[in-house]
Amino acid sequence: DEMDVDTIWMDGEFVDWEDAQIHVLTHGLHYGTGVFEGVRCYDTEEGPAIFRWEEHLERFYQSCKPYDMEIPFEPEELTEATLELLRRQDLASCYIRPIAYYGYDTLGVSPGDCPTDVAIAAWPWGAYLGEDALENGIEVMVSSWRKHASSQIPTNAKTTGLYVNSLLAGEEARRNGFREAIVLNKEGNVAEGPGENIFLVRDGTIYTPGLSESILDGITRNTVIGLAEERGYEVNDTASISRGELNTADELFFTGSAAEVTPIRKVDNVVIGDGGRGPVTEELQQAFFDLVERRTDDHDEWFTYV
Ligand code: PMP
Repeated sequence: DEMDVDTIWMDGEFVDWEDAQIHVLTHGLHYGTGVFEGVRCYDTEEGPAIFRWEEHLERFYQSCKPYDMEIPFEPEELTEATLELLRRQDLASCYIRPIAYYGYDTLGVSPGDCPTDVAIAAWPWGAYLGEDALENGIEVMVSSWRKHASSQIPTNAKTTGLYVNSLLAGEEARRNGFREAIVLNKEGNVAEGPGENIFLVRDGTIYTPGLSESILDGITRNTVIGLAEERGYEVNDTASISRGELNTADELFFTGSAAEVTPIRKVDNVVIGDGGRGPVTEELQQAFFDLVERRTDDHDEWFTYV
């Protein structure tokens, strides 16, 4: 669905949405050799503002490294392209999707002379897991699929190919009547969701799996850790969380640029806490939306105003 958007930035040019096309023998299509970002722009009292753009851009370039992929644009050029993309389409509240991938040249797995092609699209996108999810929480299933181990593929690089695993986990959960999955890592500990980090609250302390648990170093995860600490919570962000600990949590919630702060009310057959949005989750979710919608002056350095 194109909605009211009509332009995509592609390899240095603004092109019409329907002309943003690539060759079917594109390397990235065959082997998942692309990296991407998912970023939100919020319609704030100060005008449209992109949340933590600099950190997303930094992760975008870092994600290229294991693949020897070189984005043929300076960060400032991508920033300018994105701002112009939003202005041209009068986008205020929207989701921004930068992608870089090995393009068309050879179909050897070795990318040889394949160019690194880059595109940026943006479109309005509401609550990722549904409006109701933010208020009432979601029911999730512990997936039978395990997450890639970081010894098998860099899980801290946001690589397109990784999301085949996310699709398997998410669709398995939905086939079974759940909204989303929780994915365990190879060791059997809690890693994250298919496109979200996970937090657990127990006895007033907040826990989230550490970076060595084969997770993406989420920017919303980092934001929520900071918001919690500013509010006096003790946060353990190097936790190893066993599957069983999910059941005895007082609260669980997901974080992500798309998912924002989404409460989890049930895991498999087990009701979490009182079966709704818990008080700590609600406080942090409120703090998050107050921040991103600029109802506070805090952390203005995290915003790129359009
Ligand atoms: N884990 C995975 C696998 C993801 O795809 C995402 C979404 N980018 C996240 C965690 C959350 O990261 P962020 O808060 O940076 O969006």
